[in-house]
Amino acid sequence: MMKKRTAENTRSGQRPPQQDLRSPQQEPALSQDGPQNESPETRDLLGRIRVVLINTTHPGNIGATARAMKVMGLSRLHLVTPKKFPDADATALASGADDLLQHAQVHGSLESALENCGLVLGTSARIRSLAMPQFNARTAAQQAIAEAGKHEVALLFGRERYGLTNEEMQRCHWLVHIDANPDYASLNLAQAVQVLSYELRMAALGEGHDRSGLAGELDRDPVDGVQMERFFEHLEQTLLDIQFLNPAQPRKLMMRLRRLFNRARPDQNEINILRGILTAAGAHKRGPQSPA
Ligand code: SAH
Repeated sequence: MMKKRTAENTRSGQRPPQQDLRSPQQEPALSQDGPQNESPETRDLLGRIRVVLINTTHPGNIGATARAMKVMGLSRLHLVTPKKFPDADATALASGADDLLQHAQVHGSLESALENCGLVLGTSARIRSLAMPQFNARTAAQQAIAEAGKHEVALLFGRERYGLTNEEMQRCHWLVHIDANPDYASLNLAQAVQVLSYELRMAALGEGHDRSGLAGELDRDPVDGVQMERFFEHLEQTLLDIQFLNPAQPRKLMMRLRRLFNRARPDQNEINILRGILTAAGAHKRGPQSPA
C-alpha cells in the first residue's frame, strides 16, 4: 500500500536503493479525465516538474501538499528525510490525493531527490541577500514551464521551522519568493506549494486559454459605422422631438451618448431594439396618428 521506504530507513541518511528511484516515465501518469482545458502538452509540462519537500516535520503538511499539487495537475512528489512518513495525518490531509503519497519518492539525501533535474528552484519565505537570481512566483513558474520542455525541473520547499539551509539554497539555480505582506510573509508549507502549483498550471496552460468568458463577446457581430450613424441620427431626432435635447443648448449630450453606445458595440438585434424604442417614443410624443 504505502511506500516501501519509510521514515526509518531514510533517517539513517542512506541513499535509497537504485531500483526504487523511478525515472519520470515510470512515475504515475496524471489522470486522463482531467479538466477539458488541459491539453496533453500541458499535462506533459506539469509532469516534468517535481515538488521536493525537505525534512518536513508535520505529516499533515505532506498530505496537504499532495492535495495542493493534484488539484493543479502536478504529480511528482519527492520527500527528503521527512520526520514522519507514511503517516495517518498525511493520508487524512491528502484527501483524494493519496495516490500521490503512495507514489511519493522518499530520499535520504537532497542530491538523490534532484537527480536528472536541469533546473532547481528553491522557495524562500524571506528575500535573501544571496548573490543568486530571485523571482516572484509568477515569473519563476513561467521560467520553469519554459524549461520543462527541455528537462526536469525541481521546486524545493524547506522545513516548517527554518526553511532551507544556506547549503541547500546553494544547490538551487534560482530562489523564488511568493510576494506577501513584508511583516508576515511566511506561508504554511502546503499553502506555499499551492500558490506555486497554481502559477505553474497557469504558465503551462499559456496565454489564450481563458477565452470561455469572452465567447459570447466574440460571437457577437457589432453593426458597422453606417448603421451606427443612422442610429445616432434617429436618436438625436427623437431626443429633439420629445424635447429632451434642447437645440439651443445641446451641451455635450450627443457626444456622451455616442460614447456610451460605441462602448456597448451593439449588434444588429440590439440596434433594432433601440431603434424600435426610438420610433415608439417618437410616435407616442406625436400622439395618435390621424389617418392620411
Ligand atoms: N520560518 C521559515 C519559513 C518556513 S515556511 C523561514 O523563515 O524561512 C516553510 C516553507 O514554505 C519555506 O521553506 C518555503 O519553502 C515555503 N514558503 C513559505 N512562505 C513562502 C513565501 N512567501 N515564498 C516562498 N516560499 C514560501
